[in-house]
Amino acid sequence: MIKVALVGIGKIAIDQHAPAITNSSEWELSATVSRRGKLPGIPAFSDFDTMLASCPDIRVVSLCLPPVPRFAYAAKALRLGRHVMLEKPPGSTLSECHALRAIARTNRLALYATWHAREANKIAVAKAWLKNKRLHKIKVIWKEDVRRWHPDQQWVWEPGGLGVFDPGINALSIVTEILPDSIYITESSLEFPANRQTPIAASLRFAHPHGADATMILDWRQQGTQVWTIEAKTDQGKLLLLDGGAQIQIDGQDTILTDDHPLSGEYANLYTRMAQLVADGGIDMDLEPMRHVADAFTLGHRMTVDPFEW
Ligand code: NAP
Repeated sequence: MIKVALVGIGKIAIDQHAPAITNSSEWELSATVSRRGKLPGIPAFSDFDTMLASCPDIRVVSLCLPPVPRFAYAAKALRLGRHVMLEKPPGSTLSECHALRAIARTNRLALYATWHAREANKIAVAKAWLKNKRLHKIKVIWKEDVRRWHPDQQWVWEPGGLGVFDPGINALSIVTEILPDSIYITESSLEFPANRQTPIAASLRFAHPHGADATMILDWRQQGTQVWTIEAKTDQGKLLLLDGGAQIQIDGQDTILTDDHPLSGEYANLYTRMAQLVADGGIDMDLEPMRHVADAFTLGHRMTVDPFEW
């Protein structure tokens, strides 16, 4: 059993990480670190330094903090000889991610920048289907309700919180996984609420090496049905990924229906991968989704929209 400390006991730690760890035969949830959050029956620390000093047998820390405070925790853990698993996005800037990779390399420790959306049920099927086909068009629509998925999380509106790119980077992580060719952003429009530091909506256009029409719409104001779809038209038919990759249709036919819980296997897979990296001392840090987010902000045409209130 690999002992792990879960750091930042908020929504994703409670909803996904804790169940994935406790249901795994490879992992033992040995401590939590959070200023207020705790998990029943698990030794709880409110201070990271105290946990690191008190628990030399905990070899892995899994960081579920928001991106801005996460870097300091990750760098400290690596410098003190702990393997590190990062929630997405792996940092608030690309430079932070490169710095972490360098520290992990120097200290010969495992570092895993997780992309949970890549573990959704039908991503591997979509990737295999798109291989060797000529892409004509890819259209991504990611529309969800920020109030429902990030209740009262102020950090999403602060610099480094990414705004609508917090879920949008999930879409980017899927697109960069399933497409055989690399794309890059050529146009970006960002809608900023008048009272916030990060965008609530974005519209992106990408260049594709064979000229495919590639676009992405992100919107955090969606009420009612939530939409996470990727539509790809190729020379050999059409693929539709629904519910963030939980369901797939090829030429209008459902292939295999979704599980009841689209996210059920994602975090189990992430911890299986982390166990391999710990065994090998490996680094798995794909920064392609982050590169696109950085480009979207660099090229972004800024529009001011209605203030956002919870
Ligand atoms: P969250 O509910 O706000 O929880 C994060 C926890 O981190 C907080 O409960 C807080 O615990 C701690 N924290 C917050 N700010 C901190 C700071 N400045 N210094 C130290 N600790 C701080 O956020 P979340 O939704 O779990 O998201 C965390 C990460 O997971 C994000 O990167 C997000 O993109 C990713 N993620 C979220 C979801 C989702 O559905 N929400 C899904 C997948 C991935 P204490 O106050 O107890 O310290």
